[in-house]
Amino acid sequence: MTPPRIPDEAPTAGWDIHCHTVFSDGTETPQTLAGLAVEKGLHGVAITDHDTSNGWPEMLRACRTAGMPVLLGTEVTADDEGVSVHVLAFLYDPSNPAISGMFRRTREARLGRARRMTQLLAKDFPITWDAVLAQARQGDSTTVGRPHLADALVAAGVYPTRSDAFSGALASSSPYYIPTPSPTTHEVVRAVKAAGGVSVVAHAGDRGRNRHLLTDAQIESLADDGLDGLEVWHRGNGPDQRQRLLAIAHRRGLLVTGGSDWHGSGKPNQLGENLTDDGTVGEIMSRGVPVDRIAGTLDSVSYES
Ligand code: AMP
Ligand code: ZN
Ligand code: FE
Ligand code: FE
Repeated sequence: MTPPRIPDEAPTAGWDIHCHTVFSDGTETPQTLAGLAVEKGLHGVAITDHDTSNGWPEMLRACRTAGMPVLLGTEVTADDEGVSVHVLAFLYDPSNPAISGMFRRTREARLGRARRMTQLLAKDFPITWDAVLAQARQGDSTTVGRPHLADALVAAGVYPTRSDAFSGALASSSPYYIPTPSPTTHEVVRAVKAAGGVSVVAHAGDRGRNRHLLTDAQIESLADDGLDGLEVWHRGNGPDQRQRLLAIAHRRGLLVTGGSDWHGSGKPNQLGENLTDDGTVGEIMSRGVPVDRIAGTLDSVSYES
């Protein structure tokens, strides 16, 4: 494998490779994402909805129409010895049965968990399961999560915004919170690799997400299993954590990425606020399944040249 060039400072130009759409808990469509990426002058953009590749065909079409280079990805929910971890998986074969089965199981587990949280919340708040499902903008193709419960509470007038709901009844410390049963990080890293893809641990230094962060040893053990990179440039990683993650990347020859974690109007994060440099995106593309080959396997995409 080519030793990647590791930037020591956040890039000021490049790609935003961590973005959510209506296919999970973003508020905007792939078309809007592609259009905004053009407006912001991004070199390229990735779709990384939670535990699904359902948005890929629309994203391919939208980026092709907008003339915007695209990377296809998924933010995978995982667990590492009790630490909730998100793994960004890029350019894997979406028809690989092991990986599509893993995502299907997580989406089903998410539905069961969201339903149970709704039942708990319904004892104290005006919320119903139908009202939660009404917030899933792509119907059955949507990966459901806490943001949809938040949106239902906002629609019912309980909170003014989604973020207020996350600071209140939906916080992971609240009595209504239930974790999502998830595969382990090791299972995810191996499954992504077996499907030809590239794996990057997202926002590993975000103290807002977990009481305990992944240790250096836990991250290095993922590198032993074939992890490709670490998302360093993310608003959740403070300066000390960026230094720690950069040091691990140097030690283990890992790629260093950045992304906004844009969710449209669902979160304050602005598209393009964190970026991945062109060289690193090129390395991801050379390691993963080519976008054109993936496009060919997605039958709902008309990919005329
Ligand atoms: P869940 O995965 O169902 O536990 O929900 C957590 C997800 O909600 C994370 O991926 C966050 O990125 C997402 N999220 C979306 N909007 C917000 C928000 N306003 N505040 C906090 N988290 C949010
Ligand atoms: Zn999200
Ligand atoms: Fe995440
Ligand atoms: Fe995300």
